[in-house]
Amino acid sequence: MDLSENLKNIKIRIENAASRVGRDPNTIRLIAVTKEADVESIERIIELGVKDLAENYAQQLLAKYQTLRQATWHFIGRIQTNKIRHIVPICEYIHSVCRKDELVQIDRIANKYGKVQKVLIEVNISQEQTKSGVQGSELQEILEFGSSMRNIKIVGLMTMAPFTDDFQQIRSIFRELRKLRDLHQLQHPELVHLSMGMTNDFEIAIEEGATMVRIGRAIFKGE
Ligand SMILES: *Cc1c(COP(=O)(O)O)cnc(C)c1O
Repeated sequence: MDLSENLKNIKIRIENAASRVGRDPNTIRLIAVTKEADVESIERIIELGVKDLAENYAQQLLAKYQTLRQATWHFIGRIQTNKIRHIVPICEYIHSVCRKDELVQIDRIANKYGKVQKVLIEVNISQEQTKSGVQGSELQEILEFGSSMRNIKIVGLMTMAPFTDDFQQIRSIFRELRKLRDLHQLQHPELVHLSMGMTNDFEIAIEEGATMVRIGRAIFKGE
């Protein structure tokens, strides 16, 4: 397994996808998802220039943060309210906020640490029962709610496409997230980011406007 080769390939694929739609590849942030990676491999990709790391589980986040403090951390997993006090002090971004009570708790903890926590709202575009996220129709309300909080800044939207090889379906989901971002940006100009695209679909996501791609297997397993 050659992490350097994997990263090089991904960067080329990001550049190619960006250039197909006339985007500057530097506007796309590569976030390495470390949930299946060991500390040694993560240290290696940091040496190779990766700055952003993401975890799904608070426990793993805490453990890895102890040895990998130099990275910028992102939380991308399902949020347990009682873990927010561990997540906030570590993470620059929380991508997976779906509920008002999560915002309330994040705001409270962020205030305690004297920080403004950047968050994204997860949207369940594909309407799969197993996926978390708000419905598009609920976005306005949660954005309004969050915008009144002093220690929270909602900077974007996040989604996950279904696991399928129907690329048209995947594309239409990413396109829908972008439409929602564009629509709500009129009222909330700080809503700039689109966190979408994983190993299977990051090129489509970039073509549809992703500003953050969350990639695990392609980096650590060369898939
Ligand atoms: C695991 C995970 C990823 C990365 O998926 P890969 O297929 O390994 O690239 C991205 N986002 C979320 C929310 C994940 O749970």
